[in-house]
Amino acid sequence: MKANVTYWLDESAGRLPDKAAFVDEEKAVTFRELQSRAKALATQIIEKGLFKRPVVVYMEKGVDVLVSFMGAAYSCNFYSPIDVDMPASRVNKILEVLEPELVITTAALKETFESYAYRGSFLLFEEACHAEIREEKIEAARARGIDTDLLYVLFTSGSTGVPKGVTITHRSVIDYIDWVTETFAITDKDSFGNQAPFYFDNSILDIYSTLKTGATTYIIPKKLFAQPVPLLEYLKKKEINTIFWVPSALIVVAKLKAFRNVDLSGTLQRVLFCGEVMPNKQLNVWRKFLPDVLYANLYGPTEITDACTYYIVNREFADDEPLPIGVPMANTDILVLNEQNEPVSGEEIGELCVRGTSLSMGYYNNPEKTKEAFVQNPLNPFVPEVIYRTGDLVKYNEYGEILYLSRKDFQIKHMGHRIELGEIETAVSSLEEISLCCCLYDEKRQKIVLFLEGELEKSYINQRISGLVPEYMLPGKVISLEKMPINANGKIDRVKLKELL
Ligand code: AMP
Repeated sequence: MKANVTYWLDESAGRLPDKAAFVDEEKAVTFRELQSRAKALATQIIEKGLFKRPVVVYMEKGVDVLVSFMGAAYSCNFYSPIDVDMPASRVNKILEVLEPELVITTAALKETFESYAYRGSFLLFEEACHAEIREEKIEAARARGIDTDLLYVLFTSGSTGVPKGVTITHRSVIDYIDWVTETFAITDKDSFGNQAPFYFDNSILDIYSTLKTGATTYIIPKKLFAQPVPLLEYLKKKEINTIFWVPSALIVVAKLKAFRNVDLSGTLQRVLFCGEVMPNKQLNVWRKFLPDVLYANLYGPTEITDACTYYIVNREFADDEPLPIGVPMANTDILVLNEQNEPVSGEEIGELCVRGTSLSMGYYNNPEKTKEAFVQNPLNPFVPEVIYRTGDLVKYNEYGEILYLSRKDFQIKHMGHRIELGEIETAVSSLEEISLCCCLYDEKRQKIVLFLEGELEKSYINQRISGLVPEYMLPGKVISLEKMPINANGKIDRVKLKELL
């Protein structure tokens, strides 16, 4: 039994040492290079006395980030990537939660990180990845580690303004990737085209399927996602046969009909997607131009290791029909519970809850938020058993497949990003000029709309809060009101505000 994902890398490096594992815009890393550089980093991490501790990776997206992740995993510590474009105050909040003692970064980025609230030590990637490897130390660390030790912590938006660190173990990733590689028959002949940032959990599928099977992942340059024709040309040139993207990325391609210029039939074999609703309108464009491709809708939050249900598209859908999120993955149980915490019957709507190995251990260093979402299974009064309450409202269709309907709370998905509207409200409220504000999401126009009392320009607000929240959270529209509508409970009347969208 494998207790650490790095055993996959050892196997692939033994079998296919000179094959490219990961390729970015500038360079490629073979399985052997990935293994030896990660082991060099691991040796340095172990020599700092760290075991089961967070290792922050603060680097531009590229193959070196993945080498760093593996360095942390070989040393039996867990990695947490911090996006280099994240505003300082948010980085500091993450550091407060994580309390890391070690950051892997580059010489060029070290100074920026030193300006944050961090007093721990650094490993400079360029030096550390060529340091001496001490195999015996790595073996000793791996022998101490067990499969329920953490592999990574990914931070997601938190409603109170403090990002939540979702913890995931080696076991959860091993279980998930075993399912992915079996279900989609992934082998070393396959090539992935990675879209997901490494701080977003969709990337787990690309990274670990590659490590396990000896496939190759091409890290697609971000700018191509705004240029559909060059994007498809890139897929063709690199002979990428599998993509796992957020629907927003697939929609851009469908909208501009790039397929008329680039023929991917015979190249692309699998189009998998996850992270938000995939509209059939755009999926039908993909299906029309590439009818022989396997399409699959995966569903799940970061808290259950990327995905927990799936639907392999096997019938026609009208443009306005919803695409099912399907059925549970192997070794995963889905409970759809109504407000009385009972399983729903017929077409009743309920909250999707998950049971199984895929569950996160909870939010790092945050027992309150953990207790809210990770709760005792109400259907099991006999032994302690945790389920994760996703906050997603769903129902079953006539085929016994699950249909995603909406959220129970104020979490949204905007261009593939998971955002708690409360986090934006907290940032805006911190401005001295603001007395009351409220954020809503305009689904139709795909805009974050900020309502506030008083007259303030959108450009002014966005400039002021751009140091507090990432760019993708900045409101796309600001509506100034003389008086905020208040409901009978004395709360901001969101129903009334919705009418103003
Ligand atoms: P994240 O943690 O960023 O992966 O976001 C998880 C949330 O995204 C879920 O709780 C859903 O609200 C939404 N989501 C993920 N996958 C899908 C899907 N296939 N269809 C609809 N919504 C989805």
